[in-house]
Amino acid sequence: MTLNSPRGTKDFFGNDIKYRNFIINTARQLFYVYNYSEIITPAFEYTEVFSRSIGEETDIVQKEMYTFLDKKGRSLTLRPEGTASVVRALIENKLYSNRLPVKLFYIGNMFRYERPQKGRMREFWQLGVESIGIGSSIIDAEVIWLLNSFFKQLGFRNLILLINSIGCSKCRVKYILELKKYLKPFKGELCFDCQNRIDSNPLRIFDCKKEGCRKILEDSPKINSFLCSECKDHFEGVLNFLKILEINYEVNPNLVRGFDYYTKTIFEIISSDIKSAQNALGGGGRYDDLINQFGGPDIPATGFAIGIDRTLMLMKQQNINFDIKKEEPKVYVIVMDKNYQSFALEVVKFLRDKNFACDINFKIKNLSSELKLAEKSSYNFAVIIGEDEVNTGNITIKDIDKFKQYKINWKSQKNKIIKLIWSKK
Ligand code: AMP
Repeated sequence: MTLNSPRGTKDFFGNDIKYRNFIINTARQLFYVYNYSEIITPAFEYTEVFSRSIGEETDIVQKEMYTFLDKKGRSLTLRPEGTASVVRALIENKLYSNRLPVKLFYIGNMFRYERPQKGRMREFWQLGVESIGIGSSIIDAEVIWLLNSFFKQLGFRNLILLINSIGCSKCRVKYILELKKYLKPFKGELCFDCQNRIDSNPLRIFDCKKEGCRKILEDSPKINSFLCSECKDHFEGVLNFLKILEINYEVNPNLVRGFDYYTKTIFEIISSDIKSAQNALGGGGRYDDLINQFGGPDIPATGFAIGIDRTLMLMKQQNINFDIKKEEPKVYVIVMDKNYQSFALEVVKFLRDKNFACDINFKIKNLSSELKLAEKSSYNFAVIIGEDEVNTGNITIKDIDKFKQYKINWKSQKNKIIKLIWSKK
């Protein structure tokens, strides 16, 4: 019997790894430029970390968490998202005690028990940021700016940034009363889950993907007409900064996000080229009450998460290519006989000590098939060690891209070899 990976999980290798590394390296570089530092938290936490923050009534907590008891009967959960863990770590390690904001980023795998489909996995990868400690709208704008720059740097052009304000807990009380009033007469037309949500958490009805529920919401009261003056000013401030930063956005009054902890500004970046409900590449928002609810200080925060898998999928779909040749130059050492292997190892050692990516043919085959392999595997140079090279002490170096060949004396001209390889950078 052969064993397969669990449904909704994926192996990464070959070209996908190149895409993934490109995505992650681009993000790391940008996080550095925007002054974020990395945090790594465990892949599982006590279940309460997620149920208390994301919200008991959300789909994630009710249906999608990988929750299990450990050998001592404690309830643990594989993380379904990053923010809750970062907030737990922030409080536990008192990371807020120095200068604010605390700007953190994470890269990690997340787990949600959803029905797998294109762009929706049970184990998927996210990179995200959290900017903790400052409540003013300039921070919202900076986080959105970073999200926007990331996708621009990857080479995406036609993405849409949706933005909305869902107000603070004060404006929401009024809104929820109105929403309930509007929804009650339609109760029988809503799906079973949404019927229950009317009383328990009506905002979550906006997450429902069912056509019938969506239709009913089209004419519902909108949260942004219930904003208090502080939330209104905050939102206008964010939009104003985005204009200054020349970031295009669409205000979407129906935008809500699947977690309960959000306040004020929320946003999502979507692609109209993904023709399914799974068209969001990333999203985030403010969560001004969460840290305090977790037993930490009363400080506001904002952040976002980007789906690496979906980003990779769309890059391939849109033929967004990054120049693979921009990687470090790679050298393939081809040795033609077992007796020359020690000479070849000397060459490989020299190159690796100089930090050149380099490999050797461990099985002796014929030269032309090895050269073909070098070309196919995007090596930039082939070094040939055969009878002639051993006898004369002059090694042959082929520049694979330029179809040029050089003879270089191994003992006296090592610098020439380095220069030649460096010329590819
Ligand atoms: P969320 O944490 O739900 O706001 O999601 C942020 C981003 O993570 C989304 O925009 C997706 O790109 C990605 N994402 C969320 N859930 C999944 C999933 N089940 N499979 C793949 N990517 C996901």
